[in-house]
Amino acid sequence: MLQIKNLHVKLEEEDKQILKGVDLSVEPGKVHAIMGPNGSGKSTLSYVLSGRDGYEVTEGSATLLGEDILDMEPEERAAAGLFLAFQYPVEIPGVGNMTFLRTAVNAQRKARGEDELSAADFLKEVRAKAKALKIDADMLKRPVNVGFSGGEKKRNEILQMAMLEPKMCILDETDSGLDVDAMKLVAEGVNALRSEGRSFLVITHYQRLLDHIKPDVVHIMADGRIIKTGGPELALEVENNGYADLLAEVA
Ligand code: ADP
Ligand code: MG
Ligand code: MG
Repeated sequence: MLQIKNLHVKLEEEDKQILKGVDLSVEPGKVHAIMGPNGSGKSTLSYVLSGRDGYEVTEGSATLLGEDILDMEPEERAAAGLFLAFQYPVEIPGVGNMTFLRTAVNAQRKARGEDELSAADFLKEVRAKAKALKIDADMLKRPVNVGFSGGEKKRNEILQMAMLEPKMCILDETDSGLDVDAMKLVAEGVNALRSEGRSFLVITHYQRLLDHIKPDVVHIMADGRIIKTGGPELALEVENNGYADLLAEVA
């Protein structure tokens, strides 16, 4: 599904290397988690994959279902099936949530050569999916994320994901700032979307999210590289012992 090879990334503005050779391969239908100390490059990796400005790829490659994504525009990456749920969802004053979702869904369908969803079909779908995430009708009418609580913003990200039906979903610390109930709702939303043809990369600081979204593979990232890969037990090891032992092992 997603194949990253020897990815090196520096900041465009200054001569600072952030990713120093990331190798990662996510198979279809699998959930991979990335953990790691603050500043290790986890968010940078997700930004670079989604096509955010300000980063320069100096070496390496990233492909989605065999297609080179690093040369694509962000909207082409989305049409190819990539989705990034942000650590800090953006507020968009003046744009109704429902309008935003419908525009995004139809733009993606168009890019894929599919017909637009009719207003009635869209409404039916968005209401059903919102209900499952305990997002009320009022939140669908309000401007995107404006005045939403932290938990509501994160649930709204999952609703966007559910509507766009991506193939490769990247969640960057979607659990940060959430109370346990909101985190469970987000995890349930993700679990409901798990399928054979859809993969997830879940970036998280805390093991507790992984109690609810059970990963197949866990990677530890430090100083711009994946330093260790294992099963779910690796997340527990980090929770119990911190990163110090792993970092010392690698050093
Ligand atoms: P993580 O998500 O693992 O906490 P980040 O990817 O946010 O790590 O950051 C990795 C490193 O790159 C940090 O040292 C951070 O300060 C630096 N960095 C990332 N983006 C920028 C930027 N736009 N300007 C300056 N430094 C940056
Ligand atoms: Mg961080
Ligand atoms: Mg981060």
